[in-house]
Amino acid sequence: MRNFLRGLVLKVLYPLMMLVGAFFRGRRESLQVFVIRLNNRLVMAGKYRAGSMLILLPHCIQVSECDVRITHNIANCKRCGRCGISDLIAISEREGVKLFVATGGTIARRIVKDSRPDAIIAVACERDLSGGIVDTFPLPVIGILNERPFGPCLDTKVDMKKVEEAITFFAGRQGQDERKE
Ligand code: SF4
Repeated sequence: MRNFLRGLVLKVLYPLMMLVGAFFRGRRESLQVFVIRLNNRLVMAGKYRAGSMLILLPHCIQVSECDVRITHNIANCKRCGRCGISDLIAISEREGVKLFVATGGTIARRIVKDSRPDAIIAVACERDLSGGIVDTFPLPVIGILNERPFGPCLDTKVDMKKVEEAITFFAGRQGQDERKE
């Protein structure tokens, strides 16, 4: 039932909303946020024990002054700590979760196809995130909006706590981790 509702939201409601959004351009982003939140709620209303998880990141999370090429292999990161990539690598290693940077929708789809995860934690802006969640349905995805203190597509950030919460949820450890604290 939950997946049926997600399908309805992502495959029927979302295209309709984007059609409406085309006439009211200022509203488009808020409609995308609405769909992302609704999707997250529906996913988190369920129970998961995902054997394999994938974290997908936008390229703009890498600080613009860094010339290390991480798009093909995130392990090239020198972990200098100037951007969130080093912390995200540490989380992925600790949790045994795959971590990739996607420079666009086509590459994101290829990464998902190749890594065949049970669940995805996606970080992106409203447009890419909502589109990606729709594209990868019926895979369960928790979408996390990036933070853009310097404007779109430049030195963006992500709330690590939200990433860790999503991993905890998909690992089926919810409640256990809270009890440990
Ligand atoms: S942590 Fe440092 S080396 Fe790694 S991507 Fe960010 S700036 Fe580049």
